[in-house]
Amino acid sequence: MPERSEGDSRKLLRRLRDVLATPAKGQVRLDRITHLIADSMRTEVCSIYLFRDAETLELCATEGLKKAAVHKTRMKLGEGLVGRVAKAGLPVNTADAPSEKGFRYMPETGEELYSSFLGVPIQRVGEKLGVLVVQSKSARRYSEDEIEALDVVAMVLAEMTELGAFGGDGLGALHKQPVLFRGTTGQEGAAEGRVWLHEPRVVVTNPVADDPLTEIDRIRAAVGVLRVSVDDLLEAESLDKDQKAVLEAYRMFAHSRGWLRRMEEDIQRGLSAEAAVEKEQSAARNRLEQVPDAYLRDRLHDLDDLSNRLLRILTGQGKDTGATMPENPVLVARNIGPAELLDYGRKLKGVVLEEGSVGSHAAIVARALAIPLVIHAERITTEALNGDAILVDGDQGVVHLRPEETVARSFRDKIAMQAAAQTRYASLRDLPATTRDGVTVALHMNAGLMADLPSLVGSGAEGVGLFRTELQFLIRNQMPRRDELAQLYSRVMDAAQGRPVAFRTLDIGSDKVLPYMKPQDEPNPAMGWRAIRVGLDKPGVLRMQLQALIRAAKGRPLTVMFPFITEFSEFIEARSATLRELHREKSLGHAVPERLEIGAMLETPSLAYAPQAFFDMTDFISIGGNDLKQFFFAADRENERVRKRYDTLNLSFLSFLEQIVSRCAASNTRLSFCGEDAGRPVEALAFAAMGLRVLSMRPASIGPVKALLRRVDLGQARAVIEEARAAGDSSVRARLMEWLAAQPAS
Ligand code: PEP
Ligand code: MG
Repeated sequence: MPERSEGDSRKLLRRLRDVLATPAKGQVRLDRITHLIADSMRTEVCSIYLFRDAETLELCATEGLKKAAVHKTRMKLGEGLVGRVAKAGLPVNTADAPSEKGFRYMPETGEELYSSFLGVPIQRVGEKLGVLVVQSKSARRYSEDEIEALDVVAMVLAEMTELGAFGGDGLGALHKQPVLFRGTTGQEGAAEGRVWLHEPRVVVTNPVADDPLTEIDRIRAAVGVLRVSVDDLLEAESLDKDQKAVLEAYRMFAHSRGWLRRMEEDIQRGLSAEAAVEKEQSAARNRLEQVPDAYLRDRLHDLDDLSNRLLRILTGQGKDTGATMPENPVLVARNIGPAELLDYGRKLKGVVLEEGSVGSHAAIVARALAIPLVIHAERITTEALNGDAILVDGDQGVVHLRPEETVARSFRDKIAMQAAAQTRYASLRDLPATTRDGVTVALHMNAGLMADLPSLVGSGAEGVGLFRTELQFLIRNQMPRRDELAQLYSRVMDAAQGRPVAFRTLDIGSDKVLPYMKPQDEPNPAMGWRAIRVGLDKPGVLRMQLQALIRAAKGRPLTVMFPFITEFSEFIEARSATLRELHREKSLGHAVPERLEIGAMLETPSLAYAPQAFFDMTDFISIGGNDLKQFFFAADRENERVRKRYDTLNLSFLSFLEQIVSRCAASNTRLSFCGEDAGRPVEALAFAAMGLRVLSMRPASIGPVKALLRRVDLGQARAVIEEARAAGDSSVRARLMEWLAAQPAS
């Protein structure tokens, strides 16, 4: 067989483009393509196998195999040589296919006649579409050049698929079929809407190019721009050591000669600059996806990111591709920060992320905005297109993309049932959360945005048990001014109409990084320089915030609490700072609050063992269960793998809460619980059974928690917990659920 040249390859791509440019049905085009490839590669067989569904490949067109097998021959992912190519996303090249591991004999195709086999994946940036195969009778391995040439052809097929060149047949089903994603619940609730991609995919409309020299000039120029922009990133003054190291690796990729050379070779074979970038992106993804090492996987993201940047430079398609946000948008992204999510705000109906974690602040923002959130929906950014129909089931952590009508209908029933439940909860709004045996639990709400405040009246909350002030700092590009903050806090108090609002002073650090503050180089930021530790070490911001709060009160009662107090001395210092500001404001002639309550958040186990004087000095204590739980179980709240191992209803944790209750009772100190668990009805019941009488939660949880508390006898619930304790159970969940199932419905 004669050597293939780059010129041959270009010729083939041009002929391919002509086929695709001629109006014809999808099947006709596929048939012409297999004929063309077999002819150009001088092989007896060329076949195209495409995915029917995520697990099944189907022979969709062939030159050389029996035509009767088309749309009949199917194989599972990983089955036979074709299935192997699809599964690994890598070529298989053999001179003796029948004796190759995994070979599957398919009599209907007549393929036993063919000895040599070369299969390459048809894929587009990590999205597997099918397999392109050539076979010949003579026993020979295909050359590197031939593999490359076939790879380039497969790339063009993948691009044309994306553009819908194969209509309703075969490949046309791509991005049209329903797909189900099983992720993890980030925030409960159900939403129906249309996909809005946070970072839309770049559309390549010209996979084949006639003039390699022009394309090479284009790619070199684009890579030049990319390199300068990455160098600029590294120049930024605010970078710490870790960020620099990561960006150095990023720069290394951007400056990699091998990367540019491979793309130039692809262009010589007839691809456009854009298609060459995507081809290398796909190949790199496949290589690196096999790597279990977390560092290398991060580099995979880097390379992806660089390829996307390069594509944007080449196509001029910025982040804003000109698409308009659909009605009822559901945000789909790989990940998103709290500030970016806040930017979208309440216009979103739901959020679906490929990464993320339940304890992250993006999740907390989603909760604050009461938007259903599903995290860990793997590969959804590859599948979803802007405007696709999407159903988000936050309760089950499931997402239906382009759902069948039957699924959509039953989903709507579910939404309607939830709406009915909300109506039922609304009827409880003005009733107390009093149990059958007469114990009343005060239910407050958590907030962080002005926009949360209307829920105060609607939800029936008795007050705001936690106002997270850092959200105001996170959504800005610079430190907010005192006057701005005072105005905002004042409006919050106005909206609360005399109900108490516990303003938590700035809780930054850990995953809450202010864009305008120098990030810290800390190995364990959750246990690092955060919250009150920053407030005490850099008292300027704390002072400014305290002044803003005092001024905002305009003589009304004021409640302030400090996050992450770990030992008594920190509380003394923070409290003294508050009193100092109070005196200063007074001496300046400003009105001071008629009553000032100063509390501490108990978020580390050590504080539960603080001296009695601490409990005597605090006006109230609020348990920050999210942090307390992560330190109690030594399980990172951001790490899904370990977070899920430990049940809040674990008796050790409940016993610990009970101790805190009794310490507060001894000094008559008001105690509340404001972590996310307070909003889960069964957890809330267990907390009440352990003696907690104030719970603060997101507004949407108040109805369900109240409904449950009102239908149970707390003494009996306590007895169930005691039974579990006596039996040596780890968690009380099983017994409590069983007991609850036997309770009257209302
Ligand atoms: C907590 O830790 O439980 C808490 C309420 O604070 P945050 O979630 O903001 O850290
Ligand atoms: Mg906390």
